[in-house]
Amino acid sequence: MSQLLSPFIRTVLGDIAPGQLGVCYAHEHLIIDPSFATHTNTDFLLDDVSKCVAELQEAYTCGVRAMVDSMPMACGRNVHKLAEISGKTGIHILCPTGIHLAQYYTPGHWSTRLDEDALAALFVSEICDGIDNNDGNGPHWLSGKHRAGLIKIAGGLDQLDDQQQAIFRAAAQAHCITGAPILTHTEQGTAAMEQLSILQDHGVDLKHVVLSHLDRKPDSTYHRDVLQSGVRLEYDSCFRWKSVNENPTMNLICELLPQFPDQIMLGMDAARRSYWKQYGGSPGMCFLQTKWRSRMLDVGITDVLIDQMFIHNPAQTYAFIQPKESVQ
Ligand SMILES: [Zn+2]
Repeated sequence: MSQLLSPFIRTVLGDIAPGQLGVCYAHEHLIIDPSFATHTNTDFLLDDVSKCVAELQEAYTCGVRAMVDSMPMACGRNVHKLAEISGKTGIHILCPTGIHLAQYYTPGHWSTRLDEDALAALFVSEICDGIDNNDGNGPHWLSGKHRAGLIKIAGGLDQLDDQQQAIFRAAAQAHCITGAPILTHTEQGTAAMEQLSILQDHGVDLKHVVLSHLDRKPDSTYHRDVLQSGVRLEYDSCFRWKSVNENPTMNLICELLPQFPDQIMLGMDAARRSYWKQYGGSPGMCFLQTKWRSRMLDVGITDVLIDQMFIHNPAQTYAFIQPKESVQ
């Protein structure tokens, strides 16, 4: 019989109680080190610790207390830098294990070839023992002192190919063994149902699954169908829509948040230098907590619902649950 664990959130600097998380951005990219991804697009390169620290210190003064980094293994993730940034800013940072879309790895990379059991073993190791000191880039695997707090995986446009399906099944296995939450990338908001059915068929508790970027497909009927499953959604296009008068993300929040107050969260997903003030871009990482918050208040969204999105939902979603196949 396994022992009953009290809920906790696993940050790069250790485990905390969910109530300690505070205002949380649910899908971020704080560090992207030189990698195949940054080689193909230099705007993805976010490797400067001091710039990140300066921008997050400003976010802290705006009230932000936690951020979920979304870069999984071997594509620019650097948990050592995330730990340093967390220590210097006081912002809780979660770092994922998992695998991104194949386009972010060199052709033939091991992540595109390993089967689901081998992938699951790596995910479990990074959650329980520690993230690989060399970020899965070889030549040896050595668990470091910082542990992964979630599993990040990605599906393709309108469907999941065979390897993506294997990665989803691996994440489900690792979730059942460790109780770690799952964050997924959807391509342009599509294939949500396909993602959910694999996870659900393999025993995952959908309350601890977050589908990202759904607002890139701003069809409220589609969102409503997905939300009926109990899964959580992360919206991050708030600052991306060009029109001043029409913001589809705001429309979705106004329509769906009152009915599904426990299931919607916000993030910046600012994976480009051109979105960070410190790299000379805009709108900067304070945006959600300052301008966007006041726009939400202007259109009549209550403080209670806003806190629900920024504080309560991330605290519940990103908490580990009692593992189904306890090994801890
Ligand atoms: Zn992302």
